[in-house]
Amino acid sequence: MAKNLPAPKSLDWAYAPSRESTDIVKLEGRYGLFIDGKFRAPLSRKYFQTVNPATEEPLAQVASANAADVNRAVKAARAAFDNGWGDLSGVERAKFLFRIARMIQERSREMAVLETLDGGKPIRESRDVDLPLVAAHFFYYAGWADKLEYAFPGLKPEPLGVAGQVIPWNFPLMMLAWKIAPALAAGNTVVLKPAETTPLSALLFAQLASEAGLPPGVINIITGAGETGAALVEHPDVDKVAFTGSTAVGKRIATSLAGTDKRLTLELGGKAAHVIFDDAPIDQAIEGVINGIFFNQGHVCCAGSRLFVQETIHDRFVEKLKRRLNTLRVGDPLDKNTDVGAINSAEQLARISELVEAGQEEGAEMYQPACELPGNGFWFRPTLFTGVSQSHRIAQEEIFGPVLSIMSFRTPDEAVEKANNTPYGLSAGVWTQKGSRILWMADRLQAGVVWANTYNKFDPASPFGGYKESGFGREGGRHGLLAYLKGVDE
Ligand code: NAD
Repeated sequence: MAKNLPAPKSLDWAYAPSRESTDIVKLEGRYGLFIDGKFRAPLSRKYFQTVNPATEEPLAQVASANAADVNRAVKAARAAFDNGWGDLSGVERAKFLFRIARMIQERSREMAVLETLDGGKPIRESRDVDLPLVAAHFFYYAGWADKLEYAFPGLKPEPLGVAGQVIPWNFPLMMLAWKIAPALAAGNTVVLKPAETTPLSALLFAQLASEAGLPPGVINIITGAGETGAALVEHPDVDKVAFTGSTAVGKRIATSLAGTDKRLTLELGGKAAHVIFDDAPIDQAIEGVINGIFFNQGHVCCAGSRLFVQETIHDRFVEKLKRRLNTLRVGDPLDKNTDVGAINSAEQLARISELVEAGQEEGAEMYQPACELPGNGFWFRPTLFTGVSQSHRIAQEEIFGPVLSIMSFRTPDEAVEKANNTPYGLSAGVWTQKGSRILWMADRLQAGVVWANTYNKFDPASPFGGYKESGFGREGGRHGLLAYLKGVDE
């Protein structure tokens, strides 16, 4: 009889490895700059190495563009704009965008594996989140390309010309899609610079765009570090600058563009408040908080990095959160069971470590699960801090890593006041059963996006962007077109 059976020994719930093969990715030893429809050796003659952050193994040499290379790329984009793309009908532009979207879907496994190899994010995320959203973004803006006059009735929308675009390393292909899709739909041509630690997926995208038959010069991809980005945004023949990255660099760009007639949008840092009321569905909220801060190792501008829990449920919530932290699987990003992958670079790891040390020195209490980390590569344990004060650096500065700072509140007013006590204003999350309270909070939270009873949900039809030091301008939705058109000031 079952009741007489001895209690089972503790079971070993270790998962069998389930590693995605990398055979599908064919890397070149060395990549040139994609200018005027072809890969070209850089005039600078300089290259740099990109590595796999999970192993520190070199992946490829990538060209480092200097000012002369940037000039060449901007000239190619200008020529492509003047010689046809700028006058092409919306229907024709849409065909290219639809074709690119379909090709991304066809090659999404290859692109996801490459994204994970170069950036360190779990394959589960690059495969199930990044790539589907990248394709969706191109599909979405393909749909707008021939409907611009309906998007802005009574106005005469026209492209701006050449867009210079600089993106970060946390969502390389997704940020590329957010930049390139609306720019092309609106009839502009593009010079885009990916981040120096994650250039490879943008170069694969360049290949794909070329195979899609996109005319030479419409998209140019130049690689390099900060100086390359600065040369691009300061180039006199760039009409529009779109930048996603840190607030420090965003401020520098805003200063350097002041007094020019270039259009500018800035998508910068964040320090989002994630607010849990005591009537929230606790177990769902725990999952929302985990997704909010540990998705993509916390390398997310809108990460829910400050958690505010109503005092009556604070201790219970933290206990549950700690238990859930212990179940996160940290390790090989190519393993389909991995929840938390590698930190993107040694520099980012050093920044996270420095801020976590500051948190301990300032008196907050740290908790980390005892997970084993791989020997090579850049890793950081999922971390949470309790006993955090508003003035602590870990409550004020963007850590951009898997680190959660937990505070408490008593009343909705106090939650709002604490949540808004940051120079940033990108995103926020609210968990409560009461619809009226969600609306009340959303009205008062200074954030471009407020998620209710969920977190980190993205859709190409929904505009995304910040207030205060998180920047200005919106990407996504009909709003995303505004940044790439003239004659549509509303
Ligand atoms: P970063 O500012 O250091 O670099 C971003 C890009 O700018 C890189 O391509 C870099 O080479 C380039 N760059 C550096 N110096 C430059 C200069 N002087 N002129 C022009 N370009 C320059 O940021 P990062 O560390 O790559 O990315 C992390 C930051 O990006 C975080 O602060 C994060 O919050 C932010 N981010 C914001 C959003 C958003 O939508 N608001 C999205 C993703 C990331």
